[in-house]
Amino acid sequence: MKTTYNVNEKGFYGEFGGAFIPEMLYPNVEALRQQYVSISNEPSFQDEFKALLRDYVGRPTPLYHAKRLSEQFGAKIYLKREDLCHTGAHKINNTIGQILLAKRLGKTRIIAETGAGQHGVATATVCALMGLQCVVYMGAVDIQRQAPNVARMKMLGAEVRAAVSGSKTLKDATNEAIRDWISHPEDTFYIIGSVVGPHPYPDMVARFQSVISEEIQQQLLKKENRKNPDYVIACVGGGSNAAGAFYHFLEEEKVKLITVEAAGKGIYSGESAATTALGKTGIIHGSKTLLMQTNDGQITEPYSISAGLDYPGIGPLHAHLYQTRRAEFIAISDEEAMQAGKSLAQTEGIIPALETAHAFAVLKQKKFRPEDIVVINLSGRGDKDLNTYTNHYDL
Ligand SMILES: *Cc1c(COP(=O)(O)O)cnc(C)c1O
Repeated sequence: MKTTYNVNEKGFYGEFGGAFIPEMLYPNVEALRQQYVSISNEPSFQDEFKALLRDYVGRPTPLYHAKRLSEQFGAKIYLKREDLCHTGAHKINNTIGQILLAKRLGKTRIIAETGAGQHGVATATVCALMGLQCVVYMGAVDIQRQAPNVARMKMLGAEVRAAVSGSKTLKDATNEAIRDWISHPEDTFYIIGSVVGPHPYPDMVARFQSVISEEIQQQLLKKENRKNPDYVIACVGGGSNAAGAFYHFLEEEKVKLITVEAAGKGIYSGESAATTALGKTGIIHGSKTLLMQTNDGQITEPYSISAGLDYPGIGPLHAHLYQTRRAEFIAISDEEAMQAGKSLAQTEGIIPALETAHAFAVLKQKKFRPEDIVVINLSGRGDKDLNTYTNHYDL
């Protein structure tokens, strides 16, 4: 698909993107760049990818008409149920795609980095499935904070290595993973968990996640006799669930896209992850994009109550959607997300991940027409966040 919101041949979305990588990684990234489209379009790849999405992940995920929520907010609201995917979120769509690519490139060892542990679990899962060695880098602080996901990764046979430099969080884990990749370029494939990183990762991940918007179109056609909704709403950490939910609508200018960032304790509180509100152009994770930084260009430590939105940048596609105003960006605070999560649980019987709860908080802020069709990407389930919910509400 050749469109204005898709990546160009040089790996840029407008002024954002590219591949700013150490010399040593160039051959690896270049090989991937040359082959990712042709390999993933091969019929045998597509057959295997689709069969796993169907039988292992449980796709297509339902597009559920949330009647009580619709009544409450005066629009026709549909929920795209990525929370029903195996491992509880959309991340598995991408890790399956990337591990199939890794196998076809002859790689035998997988590395990844993870903050909250969700991408680490999705990666450990597909490595177990394919019988490949798996090393996940995680900040030492995050290992403490996210113990259940560390246990999951170990149970799945992955090795979890602690990053003990700097703030001992996600960006330090990323540095360790890149260092590992530089020293094992031959046999190792680096699975990145969002639409971030050097080209071709953002486009590759968006393509693997685009199954979400492809299904939304097919499902809406059946239910509403039209392919396009009026709104698509998704939360954004790095931006992969949003990219997947938006993908087939990017060029459909009548479809309004709403991207929801984490305002933490308030956009200007100093404890926030509202990248487009606070960020400036810079380079993170090998790509030129918007990121939160100090005046002298040091990356600022982000904050959000939801670990998956606690990222100081956004993918280059989203920086471009922001700059061109193709998508509207709204920042939602911890408190608003908490309320929206509880409200969804008690209106529809669905406990969303805290990340996802941010997307639902937008319903209170926007004014819809009764005939509007609104699709919210329900990126993940809230089991992992029950502790945070129960502490907050003293349940
Ligand atoms: C990881 C995660 C996110 C944030 O990542 P994106 O790449 O922005 O999608 C959002 N929701 C859930 C449930 C997650 O696990």
